[in-house]
Amino acid sequence: MDLNTITEVLRPAEPEAVKNWHSGYAWLAGGTWLFSEPQIATHTLIDIESFNWPSLVASPEGLEIAATCKVIELDRFTPPPEWKAAQLFRKCCRSFLASFKIWNEATVGGNIVMSLPAGPMISLTAALEGICKLWPRNEASREVPVADFVTGNHANALAPGELLRSIFLPASALKKNYAFRRFTLTHLGRSEALLIGTRCPERGEFVLTVTASTLRPVQLRFETVPAAETLKNALDQAAPFELYLDDVHGSPGHRQHLTYYFAEQIRQELSA
Ligand SMILES: Cc1cc2nc3c(=O)[nH]c(=O)nc-3n(C[C@H](O)[C@H](O)[C@H](O)COP(=O)(O)OP(=O)(O)OC[C@H]3O[C@@H](n4cnc5c(N)ncnc54)[C@H](O)[C@@H]3O)c2cc1C
Repeated sequence: MDLNTITEVLRPAEPEAVKNWHSGYAWLAGGTWLFSEPQIATHTLIDIESFNWPSLVASPEGLEIAATCKVIELDRFTPPPEWKAAQLFRKCCRSFLASFKIWNEATVGGNIVMSLPAGPMISLTAALEGICKLWPRNEASREVPVADFVTGNHANALAPGELLRSIFLPASALKKNYAFRRFTLTHLGRSEALLIGTRCPERGEFVLTVTASTLRPVQLRFETVPAAETLKNALDQAAPFELYLDDVHGSPGHRQHLTYYFAEQIRQELSA
């Protein structure tokens, strides 16, 4: 849609070129959300594509995903064979309530910064133990695990004007075995629950990441695959009923039911 409150679009070569941050400024990534509804509080868009950050940088240590990496680029990435859990990229890219038209423009960083419960790039990068690199204004860069970056429905750890620069996925997480479960009320609908479990092939560590059903990611970590009762008790503790999302895509009761159901399936699958 046309945003008739926007009076200026800036395309700086680097973030430092934006000397002062004013209310009414917004970073522009793919624009798929920004241009999907009126932005009455915004008058200036600052296009971050002009920073020309390399989208995907793979190394023996892991994968650095620029915030500006398009969802379609992540979908098409060819990982080294030992990064078994990179198969989750395609599954999560296909977990949007959106068609290829959105994927072609939407960025990984834009999805994480939106911090919606059904943000599939949040599910992916939280499950793969991603670390967000944040660039505050006029301060040193800082790092926050994706699982802690999202603090609620459309709420996160960013201060005004702070940039999400990249997300780093460690090779140790990419080499893990994984199990994926997702439910939508309608075919190709918005995720009602999206759970990912991972298990370290060497040490046996089990990590369960719950997203979409809860207001923010919930991550449980065990030294080995826990007993069913232990996992259920840990979920009870980490995700009280108030943490389950209530919207047209699912009731809290149904989301909680799916969460326990899928968590147990994942536990059994990764026990094998
Ligand atoms: C039809 C349709 C279906 C959709 N389905 C889903 C869905 O299933 N799940 C979902 O989560 N979303 C969905 N969305 C919302 C949105 O398209 C996605 O969240 C998308 O990934 C946002 O990325 P973007 O690059 O387009 O962000 P933009 O629209 O450019 O920006 C989104 C917000 O993030 C800020 N921002 C972007 N990048 C940065 C950065 N690097 N640092 C700091 N701030 C930044 C912007 O200022 C803005 O506030 C949908 C949208 C549409 C139109």
